Parts: sequence; structure tokens; C-alpha cells
Amino acid sequence: MSNANHYDVIIIGTGAGGGTLAYKLAPSGKRILVLERGDYVPREKDNWEPKAVNLEGKYQTKEKWRDIKGEELHPHTNYYVGGNTKFYGAALFRLRKEDFGELRHHGGVSPAWPISYNDMEPYYTQAEQLYHVHGERGEDPTDPGASAPYPHPAVSHEPRIQHLSDDFARLGLRPFHTPLGIQLNEQDPRKSPCIRCNTCDGFPCLVYAKSDSQVLCVDRAIEYPNVTLLTNAYAERLETDASGRRVTKVVVKRNGSREEYSGEIVVSSCGAINSAALLLRSANDKHPRGLANGSDVVGRHYMGHINSVLMAISKCPNPTVFQKTLSVNDFYLGSKDWDFPMGHISFVGKLDAQTLRAGAPAIAPDFTLELMASHSLDFWLTSEDLPDPENRVSLNSKGEIVLSYKLNNEEGHKRLIAKLESLMKQQTRCETHGHECHVGLFSRNIFLGQRIPLAGVAHQNGTIRFGDNPKTSALDANCRAHDVDNLYVVDASFFPSSGAVNPGLTIMANALRVGDHLIERLG
Ligand SMILES: Cc1cc2nc3c(=O)[nH]c(=O)nc-3n(C[C@H](O)[C@H](O)[C@H](O)COP(=O)(O)OP(=O)(O)OC[C@H]3O[C@@H](n4cnc5c(N)ncnc54)[C@H](O)[C@@H]3O)c2cc1C
Ligand code: SF4
Repeated sequence: MSNANHYDVIIIGTGAGGGTLAYKLAPSGKRILVLERGDYVPREKDNWEPKAVNLEGKYQTKEKWRDIKGEELHPHTNYYVGGNTKFYGAALFRLRKEDFGELRHHGGVSPAWPISYNDMEPYYTQAEQLYHVHGERGEDPTDPGASAPYPHPAVSHEPRIQHLSDDFARLGLRPFHTPLGIQLNEQDPRKSPCIRCNTCDGFPCLVYAKSDSQVLCVDRAIEYPNVTLLTNAYAERLETDASGRRVTKVVVKRNGSREEYSGEIVVSSCGAINSAALLLRSANDKHPRGLANGSDVVGRHYMGHINSVLMAISKCPNPTVFQKTLSVNDFYLGSKDWDFPMGHISFVGKLDAQTLRAGAPAIAPDFTLELMASHSLDFWLTSEDLPDPENRVSLNSKGEIVLSYKLNNEEGHKRLIAKLESLMKQQTRCETHGHECHVGLFSRNIFLGQRIPLAGVAHQNGTIRFGDNPKTSALDANCRAHDVDNLYVVDASFFPSSGAVNPGLTIMANALRVGDHLIERLG
């Protein structure tokens, strides 16, 4: 292989993990190659068009996976520079302190991480600064504590959401402002990159004001002369030397041809499902079950959270534009009447009729989809699913990705829904409709028909877990493969348990942490 194709570091994937790592390593002067299977998201009006984005799935991959029965599965995931952060809702939470330890759930045990919250804390602070997180420290009753305030003030509630927040507070809860990575300057709107629009969660930001890893990390990293980005570059396979201890080649398909690159360090950050698939595809004589898979955990313990989208319909309209500002964590670790964790309550972006058509909910009596959309508060409930070795990514004989997943630990989630139901019934009387104003809670059908929850793919994690024991984990505490000296993984694969808040900030913070380790290792 020519010297031109040899790099100090090769990073595969540019999402929350890979993009953040590229940003961190760029100033080191090391020769860095970043490989991304997708291209840039085209900037066009359709970026903000619910029909194109949600109904037609214009930007989703057209790749087909399989479920356990061999049925086709169309994953709601995105292959672009910036990965899924181009489309995410930018709710950027720290995991709770308790999530790093062993936590007893109704359905079993959520295992401990090999590092503590204190190990991650400085990197959470750095990630919040890098991704411009807006929030208010101390409001969240389960806040794990931080060494610095949020870099930007919380995004304000619109009147309907403020009203709900006041209602929740009156009922004894501690609702708080969702920490958000949108570059909104409410003090000086003319200078604000973000225009506070209704097409943020699930949409790419047409004006580049969302804190995604393309805009904030990859685009900045490639300004350094030592960093090269190749788009449309699909990492097909990793090859090792005869000992099996070093990755010597990254085999890439780019624009129809095969290319080979080598790196002193190779980092996979393809997302939890694709990184597992890459390692499984890279099986060889020394690694018969898949690269770095002496433990047989690669692909296993797939998690994606238990998520529900619940629409609370009122007779009064909900004119909110940017809805994702309110969260409730009072039931995260349990409640007076239930000793086990239940999870997290927050919002999705304001739903519209086109988006509802893509996953039609049960229709409220006397309502059309249009009416429901304009009268709903659209909640997002997240509970923790537990790592089950049988929930896994594997490959079939054609090399297609097979995703097997059986939901577990559901009781806490059911109780969380019941809590929300009860809270909504206790809202203050509406002056026009009295208590009858609240029609009820309706579940938006988030199942794709293949029994895989849509959000289960969005929050994918856990498939290449880190840990101290090489028999039960594939990566060590620095996210280096136990079995392969120069291979690292920095996407959401490393999670041994998933907590019940959105995973993005933890992936970013961890990439910064691993970045420090790599800088030290590279000297
Ligand atoms: C609609 C939506 C809303 C979300 N909202 C939130 C939110 O509000 N808060 C939050 O924290 N999280 C949210 N998430 C989840 C969040 O986006 C992901 O957790 C995060 O992006 C995962 O980071 P990652 O680095 O693991 O993978 P990704 O961001 O998926 O990046 C993986 C990258 O690898 C590339 N790739 C894959 N395979 C290969 C290959 N073989 N060769 C080369 N490149 C490859 C992909 O194209 C992609 O760019 C949301 C996700 C979605 C889809
Ligand atoms: S303008 Fe603001 S609210 Fe709209 S998509 Fe961009 S970041 Fe999100």
C-alpha cells in the first residue's frame, strides 16, 4: 500500500461519535482520514417539508434489513455527513449518576459501566460547550451535578407549554427546561442563527443552526490540512495482520470501486448497528466469530429504549411552534408508590397531519388528523430497555443486516404512561370547556409494521459493549477492542446499559474522552 494511503488515524462514520472525535483530533497535526458512506444532506426546501421528510422518507436510507423472520425491514436511519445528528431533536442530556452504577429495574438489572459519572463529567461539560447546549442547571430533580453552568440560557416555553409546566409544578412535580442544542439567541433575535421553527426534530436544519456534528465538528475538522474527508466511502471490511492483533487494512467501496487504506489507529463509528455489522463482516481465521469478538458479545445486547409518542388532545388548540422545551424526570428512578425506575417524559417536535399520516394514531372522536395535530400536546416517553444477549444484530448468508429484538422491562413504561394520564386529567379547568377540554391520550403508532419500534433504531446502542472483563465485553474502558490493539469504537455501541434519556450527549462526551486517550497514545 502506498504511503499516500497510510494515516495516523482512520475514523469511519461522522455522526455524534465519529464527527466529534474528528473535531477533537484535528488540531493534533496527525494525518487523519475520515470515511463517510453518505454525502452531505442537500440544502433544499424539502429539508423543512414534513411530507418529504416524514411521509415520503426522502432522506432515509433505502437499505433493507431483515427481522428475525426474514421479513424486510426499512430502518429509519440516515447516512450523511453528520450521521443521525443531522436529523435529531438535539435534546442533549447527561446520563444520571445512578445510570453509571448497577440499577435494579422491575424487569431485571441494568449493569454498571466500567467508568463512573465523575470520569465522564469533564467531557460532558466540554460536549455541552461544543454543542451549544441551552439549559438551566439545577431545575431537574435528577440532575447529576456539573462543574460548569450550561453555556447558554434555557430555551423559553411558549404559553401552552408554560401553562402545562405550571400545572405540573402545582401537582408537586419539578418540570424543567429540556437541555437543547439549537443555536437560538432569544435576547437578540436578529443575530440568532436559529429562527425557532416547527420543523426541527426529525428534520435537517436548512439554516445550519442545529448543533449537529457536520456543522460543528466535521466542517471545522476538515479546515485542518492534516484531515481528509471522503464521502460516499463505505467501509466494507477490516483486515488484520497474521497475528490478528492489528487492523492493517480498511477496505472501502467508493463510487463503485474498491480502495484500501491503512491506519496506525482505526476507529469504527458507524452507529451501533453498522459498527457491529462491520466487525461481523470482518471475520477471519484469527477472529472466526467476527473481528474483536472473542467474547461473542459483538452484535448482542442491542438496545434502543422503550419509547412512546403520546398525543394529549384538547378541545382548545395548541398553537406551539417549538414544543420540545419541557421535560419531567420525577419518575426517572421511581416514585413513592413504585420502587423501580420508570423513565423520562418530554416532547417530540410539534406533530402535523402529514407526519401523523406516516404512523396514523387512533383518531379521537370527532377529530380529523388535521384537527388532532392542531389540538395535541405531543409527548415523548422514554424508559430503559435492558441488555438481552438475544436482542442482537447479525448477518444473514447474503450479508444483510438482521435485527432481532424483543421488548423487555415494559412494566415501568406502562406505569409512566399511567402517571402522565393521571397528570393530564388533573390539569387546571379550561375556561371554555372545563375539565372536558382534555379529550384523552392517543398513542401515535410508532411501529413500522415489522415490530421494530422506529425510535428503537434512532436510539440504537449497546452492540459492542465496553467493560473490564474481556470475556463479557468487546471493548476496554478506553473503548479499545480487547482483542485488537489498534481498533476503537466510539459510536453508541459501547453502552453496557442505556439509561432513559437521549443518548447523543453521552456519545459526544465519550468521543472527547477517547480523543484525549488517543492523543496521549499517539504522542
Ligand atoms: C429523528 C431522530 C431524533 C433524535 N433525537 C435525539 C435527541 O433529541 N437527542 C439525542 O441525544 N439523540 C437523538 N437521536 C439519536 C441520535 O441522533 C443518535 O444517538 C446519535 O446520532 C448516534 O451517534 P452515533 O455516532 O452512534 O451514530 P450516527 O450518528 O448514526 O453516525 C454513524 C455514521 O456512520 C456512517 N456509516 C455507517 N456505516 C458506515 C460504513 N460501513 N462506512 C462508512 N460510514 C458508515 C453513517 O452514514 C453515519 O454518518 C435522534 C435520532 C433520530 C433519528
Ligand atoms: S432554525 Fe432552529 S428550530 Fe428550526 S431547524 Fe434550525 S435549529 Fe431547529
